[in-house]
Amino acid sequence: MVSRDILRRYESLKKEIARHDRLYYVLDSPEIDDSSYDRMMRELLELEREHPTLVSDDSPSRRVGGRPLDGFLKVVHSHPMLSLDDVFDVSELRSFLSRATGPVSSFPWVCELKIDGLAVSLIYEDGVFVGGATRGDGSVGEDVTSNLLTVRSLPLRLNIDVPGRLEVRGEVYMAKNSFARLNERREEKGDPLFANPRNAAAGSLRQLDPRVAAERRLDLFVYAVVSPEERGINSQSDLLSWLKKAGLPVQDAWELCSDLDEVEEFVARWQEERFSLSYVTDGVVVKADPVEQWGRLGRTARAPRWAVAYKYPPEEKTTVLKEIEISVGRTGAMTPVAILEPVQLAGSVVRRASLHNEDEIRRKDVRIGDRVKVRKAGEIIPEIVSVDSEARNGTEIPFEMPRNCPICGSEAVRLPDESAWRCPNKSCPAQMNEELRHFASRGCMDIRGLGERVASQLVGSGFVRDLADLYELKEEQIISLDRMGPKSASNLISAIRGSKDRPLAALLAGLGIRHVGKGVAELLVERYGSMEALRRADPEELGSIEGVGPAIAASLEAFFSDDGNIRTLDRLMDHGVRMEERRPETSSDGKLLSGMTFVFTGELKRASRSEAQKLVKSMGGKATSSVSGKTSYVVAGESPGSKLDKAVSLGIPVLDEDGFYEMVESLAGNEKEE
Ligand code: NAD
Repeated sequence: MVSRDILRRYESLKKEIARHDRLYYVLDSPEIDDSSYDRMMRELLELEREHPTLVSDDSPSRRVGGRPLDGFLKVVHSHPMLSLDDVFDVSELRSFLSRATGPVSSFPWVCELKIDGLAVSLIYEDGVFVGGATRGDGSVGEDVTSNLLTVRSLPLRLNIDVPGRLEVRGEVYMAKNSFARLNERREEKGDPLFANPRNAAAGSLRQLDPRVAAERRLDLFVYAVVSPEERGINSQSDLLSWLKKAGLPVQDAWELCSDLDEVEEFVARWQEERFSLSYVTDGVVVKADPVEQWGRLGRTARAPRWAVAYKYPPEEKTTVLKEIEISVGRTGAMTPVAILEPVQLAGSVVRRASLHNEDEIRRKDVRIGDRVKVRKAGEIIPEIVSVDSEARNGTEIPFEMPRNCPICGSEAVRLPDESAWRCPNKSCPAQMNEELRHFASRGCMDIRGLGERVASQLVGSGFVRDLADLYELKEEQIISLDRMGPKSASNLISAIRGSKDRPLAALLAGLGIRHVGKGVAELLVERYGSMEALRRADPEELGSIEGVGPAIAASLEAFFSDDGNIRTLDRLMDHGVRMEERRPETSSDGKLLSGMTFVFTGELKRASRSEAQKLVKSMGGKATSSVSGKTSYVVAGESPGSKLDKAVSLGIPVLDEDGFYEMVESLAGNEKEE
């Protein structure tokens, strides 16, 4: 008989594990760390071992975690994709392996590092990559072919002749650096952070938009094929060499071990050495080398009996939090950073750890002087796991977020939907590099020759401390920068001058006001027509505009309430930067283009497509989206689409962007003269 308490505990564990499985496998956003999850799973397994009658089909011990996401095509795996049983210390590892070997026979084992990513199946037909899928629930996965095509280490054609269908299995992962960069960008934007590279890789591979996966830089290692014996491969070690010869990425650290002592030695050696790798490994997978043993040992519903995962304990250390500093990021986010008593952790000395934001500090109740437990997310980003509140002696000081930017002194703001406090001053030195680069970018003021390198030199040299300084730059100053000759300096000066007349929406988007991109800027300009009117707009009215909303209204209010920003705008205006919507010169009845139909294709530079279309309409013309015999002109920007081909085939006149404006301006000019 199983007692009620045990039954209750068992059911509650099952429920909790199912909840964490969903967060981890479906949403790629776990709430707890892997070792806490593993502890729950072990307790459940222990209960099942002691009370076999408890085990039901829906037990997590009988299933491969995960479920394919809606939105992807489903792929039924030809052979199940299994998980692995875990062991957590050397004696458990030895008993697993001895049990598998049996008392009489013995055979070699292959040790491989366990890559912390997500399993994928890759299909090659006659040596050519034709598609791939995630593990899903082990039987049915998600077709992620288009995202896999963005993984550069995945060969599209194999190096050797492999006739017929080959199913390769491996792990898609995100390198530590890419993970750190991704989280850094997300923290700046105020997006939730990925807990580790495994979740980041899974969240990226399971994106419906392959451009997101491409940006996130995923990588691949392979370690298995389905039915290797059918290709004359009889051992895991031969298989790994064969995969490498075929041009597939195989991780090099594997070793063939003739006995358990060698396995143990491999596990011990890599416990520290793994930190020098550019990707995260969370253990060692030990596999029977002879393929014939795989058939003999078989599998459970969840895992093979011929392989096991040895999991390294999580690297955590206790140290003292000495101070909390504020670091100001490129977009003004003020991040509290813990200054720690230096501590050796996962291969390096840790001195600082991000505390993310005010709410996080409150949630963990972190105080200056506390003893704290630290670890590195993804073996790279130091973080505070918890505080040892028992160790407090009363001298610890609770932390208050400063109300001013520590760099420029501006009053900090916290927008209603955000966790970060931000410095709203766009000329704050901490933000200026990025600010300037954005201001000059193509969708904004489009200043040719002012890219990342020049922006950082202009800021670094002190020539540009405020966006308005740009319009006071002298040629000699630009020539004094690295790799700048007189010709490029004079080009840059003319480009800066030329930017003064950009549409107001381009300026507004260029100011880098949070949440105000090109689309929102156009809506605002359409409604208010000038910077001054926008500045005086009632926040409530702003918030009620469709497509704007309260978060953007609050962000605009914060921007216009900062004296530094107002000074910049005033100076920009003094330099002749356009602060009002360009009103097209129209005849009294606005019918200059009446009877004419325009179609725009490709990317326009002087104004957005919707602005150009508005201009046509305001002059009495029509702007349509498809080319037909009734089209008067097709205006082709950069990289035009098939509309251009159609125009040519129908003999419709084609204008480039400059030609279009010349035509509009000359019509307006003629009108005035008449
Ligand atoms: P697993 O990650 O423990 O091990 C199996 C997987 O290892 C295989 O499917 C394969 O993808 C991978 N692998 C990596 N390198 C390999 C190699 N060289 N050879 C063979 N396989 C290799 O198992 P799982 O089922 O994917 O995930 C379970 C684990 O996930 C748990 O132990 C836990 O750590 C974690 N988890 C955490 C949470 C949470 O809330 N934190 C929730 C669910 C699961």
